[in-house]
Amino acid sequence: MTEGPGEFALIAELAALFGTPPDGLGIGDDAATWPAATGTMAVATTDMLVEGIHFRLDWTNPVDLGWKALAANLSDLAAMGAMPGRALVSIAIDPARRELVLDVARGLQSLAALTGTWIVGGDTVRSPGPLVINVALFGQANPSRLLRRDAARAGDLVGITGVLGASAAALALLSEGAGPMDPAAAPLLAAHHRPHPRLAAGQVLASHGVRCAIDISDGLASEALHVARASGVGIEIDVGRVPLAPAAVELLGDRRSRELALTGGEDYELLFTFDPGLRVELATALDADGGLTVLGEVTDRVPPGDARFVEDGQPIEPAERGYVAF
Ligand SMILES: [Mg+2]
Repeated sequence: MTEGPGEFALIAELAALFGTPPDGLGIGDDAATWPAATGTMAVATTDMLVEGIHFRLDWTNPVDLGWKALAANLSDLAAMGAMPGRALVSIAIDPARRELVLDVARGLQSLAALTGTWIVGGDTVRSPGPLVINVALFGQANPSRLLRRDAARAGDLVGITGVLGASAAALALLSEGAGPMDPAAAPLLAAHHRPHPRLAAGQVLASHGVRCAIDISDGLASEALHVARASGVGIEIDVGRVPLAPAAVELLGDRRSRELALTGGEDYELLFTFDPGLRVELATALDADGGLTVLGEVTDRVPPGDARFVEDGQPIEPAERGYVAF
């Protein structure tokens, strides 16, 4: 909070919670500062979560919310082949709920500590409206190994890490369920509330010669289209090869799980294209962080700028192209 009694104490508490980086450049000055690394590319991303639009506090606890706010940003860095450095976090909150700030901060810090991220500043403001959290994350990458959306080439294979649809399946169960959640939903809820961004996989891709990647935050169909448009290539994806979250199949059935895998959001897996000659070494190298599933290819059969889905050789249209933020 920028004014009022007790705000110095809150900032001191947050500063203690977030800790001080080894170089001593933490919270406490007018602006955050850190040494600029020579020979590296600075990479920055920001993401805003608004209560009622992106989350509901009756479905998500504030600690998980803090985790997820940072995870979304870390996933964007992973998709660039970058590693995180420092973050600024701003929160707008109704003063009557200000005790939530420390819980959000605890969630942020637990993922920050796991990923080598230091939270070195931000802002807290009073707002009578919905809770809003903004994270601005700064990191770095090797400039010759950046992963970009515009680097897909004809003949590339299309791969992903992990399984898809788990988070969307959890959201579907939360929005439908009046009673207690089926214990079988636990892995889906974990994927929804505490996603693990694929930072290690992003490093593997970058170091093994992959040049094109995007993270799956808005659904596979939408992200594949982003890559096709940015690269000016056609992408064909075989729906039958899309790996589904087993618990989603168990609780929602094969058909619904598949639809959620194509159009649901917040998977935070990586979608990438690569030279077929890299397939074997990538499969081995990705073993430790999500594995590799080949879904399709970059091909002249599909017009440039389009991503097509086929099932048993026949084109299909996913119901929607993912969640569209405005
Ligand atoms: Mg992204």
